[in-house]
Amino acid sequence: MIRIRGAEVYDPARGLDGQMRDVWVDGGRIAPAPEHPQEHQVIDAAGLVLAPAGVELHSHVAGYALNAARRFLASDPEALDQLAPPADVAAGRYLAMGYTTVFDAASSPLYARLTHADLQAMSGVDRGSYTLMGDHRLLLRALKSRDPAELRDTLAWLLRVSGGYAVKLVNPGGGVAWKADRPAPGLDEPIGGLDLTQRGIIQQVVRLVNDLGLPHAVHLHAGRLGQPGNWQPFCETVRALEGQRAHLCHIQFYAYADDGTGGFASAAGQVAACLAPFEQVTCDIGQVLFGPALAVTADTSTLDGLRRRTRRPWISRQVEGEGGANVLPLDYLGRDPASAVQWAAGLELMLCFPDPLRMFLTTDHPNGGPFSAYPQVIEWLMSRAARAEVLERIHPAGRDKSGLAGLEREYSLGEVFAMTSTGPARALGLTDRGHLGVGALADMRCYRPQADIQAMFAQPAWVMRRGRIVCRDGQVLDRPAPGLDRPGGGGGFGPRVGHGAPTARIHRALSEVVTVRPEEYALGAGGERPDYREVPCASAAS
Ligand SMILES: [Zn+2]
Repeated sequence: MIRIRGAEVYDPARGLDGQMRDVWVDGGRIAPAPEHPQEHQVIDAAGLVLAPAGVELHSHVAGYALNAARRFLASDPEALDQLAPPADVAAGRYLAMGYTTVFDAASSPLYARLTHADLQAMSGVDRGSYTLMGDHRLLLRALKSRDPAELRDTLAWLLRVSGGYAVKLVNPGGGVAWKADRPAPGLDEPIGGLDLTQRGIIQQVVRLVNDLGLPHAVHLHAGRLGQPGNWQPFCETVRALEGQRAHLCHIQFYAYADDGTGGFASAAGQVAACLAPFEQVTCDIGQVLFGPALAVTADTSTLDGLRRRTRRPWISRQVEGEGGANVLPLDYLGRDPASAVQWAAGLELMLCFPDPLRMFLTTDHPNGGPFSAYPQVIEWLMSRAARAEVLERIHPAGRDKSGLAGLEREYSLGEVFAMTSTGPARALGLTDRGHLGVGALADMRCYRPQADIQAMFAQPAWVMRRGRIVCRDGQVLDRPAPGLDRPGGGGGFGPRVGHGAPTARIHRALSEVVTVRPEEYALGAGGERPDYREVPCASAAS
C-alpha cells in the first residue's frame, strides 16, 4: 500500500478543490484508507498539488498523415521535433506532462495498420484511435439503404476491423463531393448521387452510436472549417444534433464572424451561447499558437481551399473508397490579423464557456500548434495579465475583433484539471480515470505550486501510473517496452460492439468499393484485437 500524504487534492468529480487529503493506493488503484494500521510506503506530498492524470482526447500523433507530414519538415529539425515527433517520443512527452491516456483523433480504416504500428510504439500511456467513416462508401451505402440493421452492422464492422475506439465524422460527404469536383455540401444540400445530406448522415450516425451505447459519442469535425462567417452554419450543425450526445472537435476553428471585409472576427460569444444549453454535447478547443503548425486532416475540400489561399504545396492522399489524408504546412503569425483573431477566439471561447467539464483543452496537435504548448495555454487561461501581454504585441485585430481583452475570468486550478482530465475521461466513457475515487486507476500528477504557471504545468514534480511513479521532474523513469503493455489495464482500448455482424455481406459490398481484398482490409482477417481491453457499451443492443 502507498500513502500519498498531505497533498492539496484537486478532484473535480468529487468536489475537492485543493483540500488537504491523504490518498491511498493499492494494487495500482485508489484505495480506501485502511481501517487498521498496516505497513505502507509513504510519499510525502505536503504543499504539493495532486490531481488525476491528464487525458488527451484529440491529437494527431499516429498514422499515415503524420508520416507524410514529416516530409515537409525535414529541413526544420525543431519544427519536426515539436509538430511531428515519432509516436514513442510523443508518448514520452505526454507522460512527462502528466498525461497517461492519449487518443489519436483520426485513422482511415485502410491505413489502420500504420496507425496501430504507431500506437504500439506509444508505450507508457493508454492509447487508442477513432475511425474515419464520414466519406466511407460502405457506410454511405448503408445510410442510403435506410436499413437500420445494415447500418449498425457496417458501422460495427468498420470499427472492429480498424481497431477504432470511436466513430469520427469529418465534414461528412465533403470528401465524396471533392472527388466529384464539387464544392463541399452545406448541411442540407444533396451529396452528389447519394440521396443523402450532411444533416442526414450526422443525425443517423449520432443516433446509432448512442443507441449502441458506444463509450465515446460521435466525434464530429463539422463543415465550413476555418472560414470567416462559419459560426452560423456551425451553430446549425449543433442544433441538428437535437440535443443528442456528441463531441464537437477543435471548435475554435468554427468561431468566426465575417468582419465585413471578408476577414476574420471572433464569434466566440455566439458559439459559446449556442453550445451551452446542450448538456450532452462536449467540445475541445483546438487552440492556435503563434509559430509553425501543420494542417493534418481528412477534410480535403477545406484544405484544398486553404492551400490555394496560402499558395503552399500540400500532400493530398485520396484513400480509395474512403475520404482523404492531407497535410499542409502553416504559420500562425502574430503580425497577421487572421492569426491574431484565431488565437484570441480560442481563448475567448474557453473563457466564455461556463463548464470546463464539457470544454477540453487541445491544440488539435499539430493543426493549431504542438501539444507541448498546453502549459502556455493554461497560463493564458489562468492569468489575465499573461494574455494581455500577448494582445499588446500582436496585430490589433486580436484586440479589436474579439472580446478577449474585456474578459476578466481567470481559470482556477480545479477548472484546469476539469478540462484536461475529468471532462475528457467522462466524454470518452472511461469511468476508471479522470477522478480519484476509490477503485479508480492510480494515475495521477503532482505539481509544485509556483507563481510561474507555465513552468509548473510543464514539469510536474512527479507522475504516477498504476501506482508507480513513472516520471519525476520531467524525466521519464519507467516505460514498458513497445507493444501493448499489460497487465494493469491494457495499453489499448476497443469497444465491445458488433460481434455478430454478417461479414459475408459486408465483404461483398466492400469488394465493390475497394481493390484491397476484404480479408486484408484494415487490420486484416477478422480484425479482432484479442490483446485489447474491451470497454463495455452502455446499451444491451451492442
Ligand atoms: Zn484533429
